[in-house]
Amino acid sequence: MPNKYIRTFLVVVFCAVYTNAQTDYLIFDAIQKVSVDSLKANLRVLTGVDSFYHNGNYKRISSRHKESQGNVYAREYLTSKLSSYGLNVSVEKFEEDGENIIAIQKGKSGSNRYVIICAHYDSMPPEGEAPGADDNGSGTAAVIEAARIISGYDIKYSIVYALWDNEEQGLHGSDFYAANAALRGDSIIAVINLDMIGWDGNDDFKADLHSDGRPLTSLLVNEIISINADYLIDLDIELIYPGTTRSDHYSFWLRNYPAVLLIEDFYSPKGTPNDFNPFYHSPLDQMWRINYDFYKKMTQLALASLSSKAEIMSKAGQIPLANLLYQNYPNPFNDATVISYYLAKEGNVKLKIFDLTGREVEILVDKRQKEGFYQLNYVPGGKLASGVYYYALITDGGNDIRKMLVLK
Ligand SMILES: [Zn+2]
Repeated sequence: MPNKYIRTFLVVVFCAVYTNAQTDYLIFDAIQKVSVDSLKANLRVLTGVDSFYHNGNYKRISSRHKESQGNVYAREYLTSKLSSYGLNVSVEKFEEDGENIIAIQKGKSGSNRYVIICAHYDSMPPEGEAPGADDNGSGTAAVIEAARIISGYDIKYSIVYALWDNEEQGLHGSDFYAANAALRGDSIIAVINLDMIGWDGNDDFKADLHSDGRPLTSLLVNEIISINADYLIDLDIELIYPGTTRSDHYSFWLRNYPAVLLIEDFYSPKGTPNDFNPFYHSPLDQMWRINYDFYKKMTQLALASLSSKAEIMSKAGQIPLANLLYQNYPNPFNDATVISYYLAKEGNVKLKIFDLTGREVEILVDKRQKEGFYQLNYVPGGKLASGVYYYALITDGGNDIRKMLVLK
């Protein structure tokens, strides 16, 4: 077939349209808000790169080890952050010096079922500087990022944003919480534990998802793997079964709750570390060693999974009034890329590709479309030379334009 026909064929076939999937649109919308700048700003404070201002003093977190002053400072910082998103925040004390941070976002259904997204905020080693950027500033900042973003939506089922203390001494914080949850008979739909989600030393985007293989955990694992594909997050996920018992999800496995650990690629079933962070538990676990492309995807996957389990809803009157044109993915690209947009109301729509000089290269959409979320796979064929192009969404309600890069 000549090129032209191939191209037309592909565009028609891949114009998958999701007009009825309000929930899908909202999850997609939420994960676009994950910001590396926001993650870094929190990591700078948690790892002592920046000081923070609290109760009239500047404070620096040089360690978050349970016996350090910084552990107290970290708690002050994290509770004030979570409170600033309008959540109900409390500190749960256990043993001599343990303090979990528990923030609650109420679900609109009134149901007592809830979802937990969690990370331990304490760090190692015990003496001296313990920045713990990957272990586990990364998980902690991702929980804060989830709270920042999801607090802007309504949810059907409540969310508990939990930050555990004294994990490094043997999961003490999560064990205390999970034991009490079991005693109370809490109805926990899912636990998403984030522990070390920022290291990808070989840029292979591999991540591990740890399961205990029980039915409800297996369902959760399958759902997370689908979410990784459906929302174009594109991590290379390896299911680890039987999963490690060495992080906080284990406290929930012990009480028969469905729980997973999402973690960088540190483990292989044969027991040989794959891409293990060599700075683990050392003063060199610093934030500049984090792979931010990988870390952003890990945060997006956690956030999408959380949104799906808690059933994210738009706040009343908060359905976006403007059209949205999303960044294409992948970008840069060679043979194909996905372009997505949201139409706030029905109207005439054009989606066009321009080159740098403003010359129109191709028209991908030119028709009347209903309100909703649209996604198409753009296959330029052999036509486009390497370089920068623009794609524009042109509607009655205004125009939106973004850049994309073709690399041959
Ligand atoms: Zn850890």
